Amino acid sequence: MRLAGKVALITGAGSGIGRQAALRFAQEGAKIVVVDLNLAAAEETVGLVKKQGGEAIATRADVSKAADSAAMVALAEETYGALHILFNNAGISHADDDNAETTEESVWDLTFDVNVKGVFFGCKYGIPAIRRAGGGSIINTASFVAVLGAATPQLAYTASKGAVLSMTRELATIHAREGIRVNALCPGPLRTELLMKYLNTEEKRQRRLVHIPMGRFGEAVEIANAALFLASDEASFTTGATFLVDGGITAA
Ligand code: NAD
Repeated sequence: MRLAGKVALITGAGSGIGRQAALRFAQEGAKIVVVDLNLAAAEETVGLVKKQGGEAIATRADVSKAADSAAMVALAEETYGALHILFNNAGISHADDDNAETTEESVWDLTFDVNVKGVFFGCKYGIPAIRRAGGGSIINTASFVAVLGAATPQLAYTASKGAVLSMTRELATIHAREGIRVNALCPGPLRTELLMKYLNTEEKRQRRLVHIPMGRFGEAVEIANAALFLASDEASFTTGATFLVDGGITAA
């Protein structure tokens, strides 16, 4: 019970990493606010958490909207009395052949709205709540591409995840003495919907696998386990970290 008595809010928890994190955090005793743009998917995650004996509530929010982000944090405090763990995980990607010449401005704007402004709003409303709770942990999902740059260009996505790393480091520094830890989780290529909708042929998947020393895609639960560590007191001296969970892709 590494998160006993804690309240965790996870965005993008209707799918992939966020759903697995909801399940893992709940197994360790946390009450979960399951946030997603897709309410039905969020409710499905709540059903899965409850099935394993955990406690969770679903809500629809678009993290790129200030009012939605304020409301999801308010819901955590109203429902469970506090917020200790904020996992800013919701994110979107776009076609993996977009470079400076091909990326549409609308794609750039949408990517930054969700991936960057979403983390900003989560922190804007989440930090005061975590402070009221006496401290806690914020985890922002970035990506290995923020460190490496992608061989298959996704310019807006890569830039947005770089911004997540910068925000994480600054917030970690600013809030360190308040007992608020802020870390960035950088997954490598995963076998989730987000990536597989682009790697939709065996040839494309094989071309990507060549770059991953472990020779396989990661599973969402492997990222959720790293998030669990960062959320828990086991990571009590870890803040401002760029936490890579990437099958060795950035080491190669
Ligand atoms: P996923 O597509 O399986 O899940 C993302 C969830 O976020 C979906 O349920 C979606 O409805 C939700 N979402 C999208 N826009 C939203 C918004 N505006 N407001 C609220 N919710 C919204 O993706 P995943 O693979 O679990 O990715 C989660 C995070 O991990 C993302 O930030 C992604 O960029 C990052 N990441 C993924 C990979 C990968 O290979 N899958 C690699 C590195 C980083």
